[in-house]
Amino acid sequence: MSTMTAYQLVAWGEPPEFREVEVPEPARDEVLIKVAGVGLCHSDFLFLDTPPGIIPWELPFTLGHESAGWAEKIGSDVEDLEPGAPVAVAGIHSCGRCRFCLRGQDNYCPRGASGRGYGEDGGLAHFLVVPRRELVPLTTLDPRRVGPLTDAGATSYHAVKRALPKLVPGSTAVVIGAGGLGSYAVQYLRRLTGARVFAVDLVQQRLDLARELGAHEALLSDEHTAARVRELTGGEGATAVFDFVGDNATMAMALASAGNLGTIAIVGAGGGTAKVSWGVLPLECDLYIPMAASIADLHEVIALAEAGEVRVEVELFDFDDAPVAYDRFRAGDLRSRAVVTPNG
Ligand code: NAD
Ligand code: ZN
Repeated sequence: MSTMTAYQLVAWGEPPEFREVEVPEPARDEVLIKVAGVGLCHSDFLFLDTPPGIIPWELPFTLGHESAGWAEKIGSDVEDLEPGAPVAVAGIHSCGRCRFCLRGQDNYCPRGASGRGYGEDGGLAHFLVVPRRELVPLTTLDPRRVGPLTDAGATSYHAVKRALPKLVPGSTAVVIGAGGLGSYAVQYLRRLTGARVFAVDLVQQRLDLARELGAHEALLSDEHTAARVRELTGGEGATAVFDFVGDNATMAMALASAGNLGTIAIVGAGGGTAKVSWGVLPLECDLYIPMAASIADLHEVIALAEAGEVRVEVELFDFDDAPVAYDRFRAGDLRSRAVVTPNG
């Protein structure tokens, strides 16, 4: 039996710990991945900060749900991957058989209530086991840097994709929260639509990056933001608003910024509540909460990145520094996504 180090949540409400655990064996349809890089996601704080008795997952489990790496050991039924092949790992674990999976809506598979890095062993370890179906092969991309595309990149893509038919030239799209997810949304909106793109954030370095990534306007977030969006759209309001924060303030901002016939996506899980009524929700405006991304979405995101159409901005951290990376993320002290590299 060989062992490896894994960064695990061991007790609810306590800091995670580095532990020695067994290297998992891939089943026939699985691949053992040597982990190259794992992006840290804001969603991790939702359960890292949860007291005991609330979430039904068994502890311990290894953290990290934005992983990429190299195929290390291939299950006997997997015929299309060679050892050493670079791959990205889908964020959601799905069954592959239910009606959601069969429709390509595997991000709504009931099996996904827990998964790699959230209730089951994730990527913050030397190795990780993944079904072949949930791997996307890479060609030119460096697996040490691609992890964030599997959730931050793919979730924001899924949210933007649904609004694409409305985002014709001359339309306006607002991205509230230009962080991990939002910085990709800015890029998809620029690459895939003719919309004017406004980025909104509280943090100047996030707005600076959003500008570099193509945002036409960068607005500091405050109680006047929605009025500013209306002013910049000639009173009409925005065609689409993507809220990557989802607290009371940003949900109210999203409703007040959108125009009639528009779209509002609440992607951020900030625990907010919004009042929806006549005069508050714009007329004939779509309002939805998208969940993560399908495997097909990840294939499309990787294709865009392989084509050089999406910039993956990361700050790399050694495996030993995983706690430091989480601390800096929590303190808002990052310009881009923190990525931990378990194998150096
Ligand atoms: P992040 O911390 O990288 O980015 C959030 C950004 O929002 C930061 O730049 C922050 O400065 C900014 N912000 C905070 N409050 C703001 C405000 N009032 N106005 C404007 N900007 C504000 O986080 P992330 O990893 O990009 O995750 C964003 C959210 O998406 C989190 O709530 C996360 O849990 C959620 N999430 C949802 C899904 C899903 O499937 N729906 C998937 C992944 C993450
Ligand atoms: Zn399923």
